[in-house]
Amino acid sequence: MTKKTVIITGITGQDGAYLAQLLLRKNFKVIGLTRSCGNDNLNGLSYLGIKEKVILMPCDLLDISQIIKIIQQVKPAHIYNLAAQSSVSLSFQQPIGTFQLNTLSVFNLLEAIKTVDKTIRFYQASSSEMYGKVNDLPITENSILHPLSPYAIAKAAAHFTCIHYRESYKLYVSCGILFNHESYLRPNTFFVKKVIQESVRISKGATNVLKVGNIDIKRDFGYAPEYVEAMYLILEQEKPSDYLICSGQTISLREIIHYIFDKLNISHDLYQIDDQLYRPAEIENIYGDNTKAKQALGWVYNLDIFQTLDLLLKEEMENYTLIYQLS
Ligand code: NAP
Repeated sequence: MTKKTVIITGITGQDGAYLAQLLLRKNFKVIGLTRSCGNDNLNGLSYLGIKEKVILMPCDLLDISQIIKIIQQVKPAHIYNLAAQSSVSLSFQQPIGTFQLNTLSVFNLLEAIKTVDKTIRFYQASSSEMYGKVNDLPITENSILHPLSPYAIAKAAAHFTCIHYRESYKLYVSCGILFNHESYLRPNTFFVKKVIQESVRISKGATNVLKVGNIDIKRDFGYAPEYVEAMYLILEQEKPSDYLICSGQTISLREIIHYIFDKLNISHDLYQIDDQLYRPAEIENIYGDNTKAKQALGWVYNLDIFQTLDLLLKEEMENYTLIYQLS
């Protein structure tokens, strides 16, 4: 049987790498679009041992002619759109660039699908950040959007773009609305990875303090390798729809620091609040209801937040030891 071809944009990111690994296991031919095919951003794919198993193609997602050419050439059955400026913090410093990339790329991909082949199934990486100023918890698929950052505004615009193409042109477009999810591959500019990486370094004597911003906010955190399973399941459904993918639990950032510090016997005096790391606006508390994803997709997710933190800490420690021994 010939393999189905899928395109993943943002294949060099955390989710792109884990999704590529999963889809290779499911026997898809995986094409990854990347803005540069240089080796510097292929660490995630190398770490998972799949760098040579995916086909990388350079593509500027702001140039629709390049997208059309690639779709005509590789004839994908599915496109997973994960490429984005994905940092909420950075979006306050680069609001226009974030908005341009995170919205126009979605318009370009959907217009290209509408032009070349309307049967292609499209997955969009939407975000819980879109809900922003939360009134009722837990968040469900029907909660009102009230974004609180340029990143969230862009993701909300992209989300409505997807709904528009689904309703107006009958394209198969589905959105996974993902809450924070973590892994060893998460860049260290993101909170949980930063806390774990820096805590391990403190425990080894490589540094002596962890600087953090507002740690009294609460978030719903999950484990990225399990969340990409949901992405795959979303495009396997007969009809397109949108799904919240979350753990359903919430924890304050302060509790995360205390949990990791206690695991590593680090004194709580060794973290400092740095006002420079506060954001202009912040979601106070957010968690979601994953009932639809579990019931409609058959997605299985049983990890609690502390089990997730244990997994992340174990992998960080193993890799620290490895890197330390090699250097
Ligand atoms: P990530 O690790 O930051 O990866 C983002 C990907 O987008 C990378 O492959 C990056 O390529 C690519 N990218 C960035 N700027 C680009 C540009 N100008 N042109 C083309 N590609 C560009 O993000 P992630 O955590 O895997 O998240 C995947 C998607 O899910 C993103 O859309 C994110 O916004 C969304 N999301 C993530 C979370 C989460 O908790 N992780 C939650 C909700 C939604 P380079 O390697 O070249 O930089």
